[in-house]
Amino acid sequence: MDQERLKGRLLGFIPTMGALHEGHISLVRAAKKENGRVAVSIFVNPLQFGPKEDFKKYPRTLAADCAMLKKAGADFVFTPQAADLYPQGFQTRVQVGEERVFGLTRGLCAAVRPGHFEGVATVVIKLLNLAKPHRAYFGAKDLQQAAVIRRMVLDLDLDVRIRVCPIVREKDGLAMSSRNRYLSAEDRVRALVLSRSLRMLKEALERGEPFASSLSQARRVLAAASERVDYLEVVDPETLEVLKSPRPVMTAAAACLIGTTRLIDNISIRTKKGVRK
Ligand code: AMP
Repeated sequence: MDQERLKGRLLGFIPTMGALHEGHISLVRAAKKENGRVAVSIFVNPLQFGPKEDFKKYPRTLAADCAMLKKAGADFVFTPQAADLYPQGFQTRVQVGEERVFGLTRGLCAAVRPGHFEGVATVVIKLLNLAKPHRAYFGAKDLQQAAVIRRMVLDLDLDVRIRVCPIVREKDGLAMSSRNRYLSAEDRVRALVLSRSLRMLKEALERGEPFASSLSQARRVLAAASERVDYLEVVDPETLEVLKSPRPVMTAAAACLIGTTRLIDNISIRTKKGVRK
């Protein structure tokens, strides 16, 4: 990448954990549009998984991933091993906000995944330092991750532009995710409740229906068809502050368990006239 930089080429970079799907490929396409060279990393980052999470069973499909990336026109694929990024003696972490206390990592996924965003921020800053891209691409599906990365780049004066690209969905509305392949056929159908409950809430708020009862109704729908609801909240899309009353621009975000698979999704909401409290 240094050589490409020296040649004056613009570099786009997409960090991923592999098991690629159209959501990832949309980031490659976005990067291709505005950069001369595009690099993708594939690394299942142990630092961002909790002890009871799915690090071991996370899908690893390197050959298929490389074929997809080649077809999409990516120029470089970086596939480090854990020992490359975290050699013996490694002991530095990047922490954005403070879990349960303040800032971007106070709530939502951070409340149920302790240490997750520290693991994400740490690996992303390392990957950015290694790849030295001009622009890095992230998906809006990981709302809190994107907010944490943006904040880190601002706070630490990193010389990179962060682009956040729209969520890519299956035809029936399910947000694409590497973890969708864990779902059984029956759970795959039930998983639709996540996008459906968020869409219901969006439509209700955009129609001007009351905030609190619309939110409760969406939570009821989600709870009825999932094993566990971690959260369903309406937040400020920048600060992730949980909202108790409507604003012109909001994001509804949710996480739930379908079978044994934890899924997340979010949707942006724009109210024209504002809604009743
Ligand atoms: P992951 O491999 O899950 O770590 O994701 C790598 C990048 O792809 C992250 O920036 C994700 O937000 C993004 N991504 C994952 N799924 C989607 C999707 N359905 N639509 C858009 N971006 C996505």
